[in-house]
Amino acid sequence: MPKRAAWVAFPLSIEHCALGIDMSSVVISARGEQRVRSGHPWIYRADVVDVDAAGGDIVQVIGPRRRTIGYALFSDRSQIPIRMLTHGETPADASLLRTRLSRAIAVRDGLRIDATAYRLVHGEADLLPSLIVDRYADYLVIQTLSQGMDRLLPAITAMLVELLAPAGILARNDPRVRALEGLPQSIDVLHGEVPDSVVVQEGHIEYDVDLRRGQKTGLFLDQRENREAAARYARGRLLDCFSYTGGFALRLARTCPEAEALDISADAVALIRANAIRNAVPHLQAREVNVFDELRRLERAGARYDTIVLDPPAFAKNKASIPNAMAGYKEINLRAMRLLNRGGYLVTCSCSYNVNEEMFGSVIHDASIDSHTPMTIVEKRMQGRDHPVLVGVPETYYLKCFILRRVE
Ligand code: SAH
Repeated sequence: MPKRAAWVAFPLSIEHCALGIDMSSVVISARGEQRVRSGHPWIYRADVVDVDAAGGDIVQVIGPRRRTIGYALFSDRSQIPIRMLTHGETPADASLLRTRLSRAIAVRDGLRIDATAYRLVHGEADLLPSLIVDRYADYLVIQTLSQGMDRLLPAITAMLVELLAPAGILARNDPRVRALEGLPQSIDVLHGEVPDSVVVQEGHIEYDVDLRRGQKTGLFLDQRENREAAARYARGRLLDCFSYTGGFALRLARTCPEAEALDISADAVALIRANAIRNAVPHLQAREVNVFDELRRLERAGARYDTIVLDPPAFAKNKASIPNAMAGYKEINLRAMRLLNRGGYLVTCSCSYNVNEEMFGSVIHDASIDSHTPMTIVEKRMQGRDHPVLVGVPETYYLKCFILRRVE
């Protein structure tokens, strides 16, 4: 099989991006081929048999029987050297990239999202592996998290300008995973101008977002629909743990006459206070504390709540930290259950991919037994629809959100 040009027929508008035409190829093992056939776009290092490519190339992926499996992004430093873009002879060209970007944008248009901040491209689930594009009002924030996608950044930027005409595009390319790819960590304006703060709306809530310094790309967009869902139950005294800039608290405070938000970060607490004023919920109190200590203190003090939210950072960043993570999740859930009044609601989340839904369910079970609080599961939820899960790719299902009710 002759090597094919992977990038062909660039539309005139992105000609200046000079993507080049790669003549690179990679041979994979039978196990690698099987993995692709099962619908997973990643091939690990152990299944790469031969490489005739440079890091960042689009490569022709060849199976053990010399058949073309498809075209993929190639990394020479990552544990995941191959991320499939197409199958069979379909080339991974500029028109494919454009089609996938337009489709991802159209999908979000169809979701009728009541917010001006949401995810436009969710990597693998939009068949654009390792690419994140978030919209914040008139601005876009991009992350390219592999060598191959990073090389396509100029082309993607040009296409997004054409498709969406944003006022500015910021590359938030500071996540640590870029280091694993041998890529620099940087934050750069790629198009137009990006102000220090951007005001976005989510339902009736307004946030002032710092796109350069905020966590993730500025906000936890993946929780938007869970905040909406939680608002259907929230009442009485509210405790929002791991609040960041007040995501859950601001949304729920309207129906909760008493509301407290906790975060360990002084910057986050200052933002919660500012957001509480901006959104006319001045009764929302924010405290800079360690949630683990504070839940224990509240329990000792005999405090009781009607609505509690637990939205901690990922406790299990890797497989080795799973046991500690499980213990951490159990601890906070157990304490929260004890702090709930009868009939109260617990909105409990885990964004650790390494703790799957079943494991998280077992943590909740253990916490309920040990705290002697019978709980019902009212809703089992996940990340919002703008962060879709690709069937066969468990890594794309990372956020679990259970809404529980204390029965007695
Ligand atoms: N619920 C938020 C997102 C939470 S992100 C939203 O909807 O927007 C997790 C937050 O937990 C971060 O803001 C981080 O500062 C905070 N955090 C991490 N460890 C903590 C701890 N031990 N105690 C309190 N807050 C903590």
